[in-house]
Amino acid sequence: MSFHAIVAQRADSGAISASIETLEEAVLGDGDVTVAVEWSNLNFKDAIAYVSPLIIQKFPLIPGIDFAGTVEQSTDPRFAPGDRVVATGWGLSQTHNGGYAQRARVKSDWLVKLPEQISTRDAMAIGTAGFTSMLSVLALEHGGITPARGDVVVTGASGGVGSIAIAILAKLGYRVIASSGKTEENAYLSALGASEILDRAELAVDAPPLGAERWAAGIDTVGSKTLANLIAHTKYRGVVTTCGFVGGMDLPVSVRPFILRNVTLAGIDSVNCPQPIREEAWRRLASDLDLTKLQSTITEIGLGEVLEAASRMREGKIRGRTVIDVN
Ligand code: NDP
Repeated sequence: MSFHAIVAQRADSGAISASIETLEEAVLGDGDVTVAVEWSNLNFKDAIAYVSPLIIQKFPLIPGIDFAGTVEQSTDPRFAPGDRVVATGWGLSQTHNGGYAQRARVKSDWLVKLPEQISTRDAMAIGTAGFTSMLSVLALEHGGITPARGDVVVTGASGGVGSIAIAILAKLGYRVIASSGKTEENAYLSALGASEILDRAELAVDAPPLGAERWAAGIDTVGSKTLANLIAHTKYRGVVTTCGFVGGMDLPVSVRPFILRNVTLAGIDSVNCPQPIREEAWRRLASDLDLTKLQSTITEIGLGEVLEAASRMREGKIRGRTVIDVN
């Protein structure tokens, strides 16, 4: 059966191009489960896949680091035709054909069955970004952070990871400080559950070795000086998570917050996250994310609009989550 997909190619110059093509199922590659993809989405990693040599590792390849849809065929008894499933990370859009297609074939170990409350569209409104937000919240909980401990600051607040982190934290009863560069999105951030908004420029300065204690915890998507400031201003025994680098991959920070305030820096990786934690995260998303608030984050596009949206995301101009109707 033929299907439509975006296919990325690399020229001898190294330049990556992408266009919509009609493909036959035989090109899908290895896997014991074939999925009729319904929705995919745009994450920062998807946006940089067309300009970075670090994401797509073989060409031609279907990009898209995640997808949600319905199982069509399975040789693994854990999955049956009709099961609603989600896949994020693993080799998708790196070494294995990804989600920007009407069909996907993957290893069954890459799939999670969706909780009943979450539609395939909502699963991709959450996507890798929202899954990472939940992993970050789990890390704060693992570090003993409760709403009573104090505020939680979220950076890159109007972006995908940030928006969903705010909604989850607010539903769990945390007081959230949203750090954003978009003053025009203040109402959006407040509606998601932010109690206070911080201009991201305030955190983009050199961090003091040890600053005044301002928050109990932080979820950082920016890196560099911003992450250094989050750490320097974290209260005693606080926890800061790091998942992103939209502001840079360096970390100019003193060891003082770690050895004088017992601050924990928790790394977050969604790509190779073990399956039991994936299942826990999706269960928690079903119970701890207000799906009405999730709708306010969504912009819907088709496969033909992906490249333009990716370009705007690289410029930091996208708000919330962009879902892709692959059909
Ligand atoms: P988005 O593009 O949706 O959001 C990023 C947000 O960061 C922007 O909306 C903007 O928010 C802010 N921002 C943009 N540029 C800058 C800048 N130069 N300095 C400071 N802030 C900036 O991306 P995602 O939410 O999808 O991803 C965020 C980060 O998390 C990325 O680096 C991504 O690679 C990473 N990530 C990592 C994962 C992992 O497994 N470790 C998984 C998922 C994402 P505002 O204007 O509100 O400040």
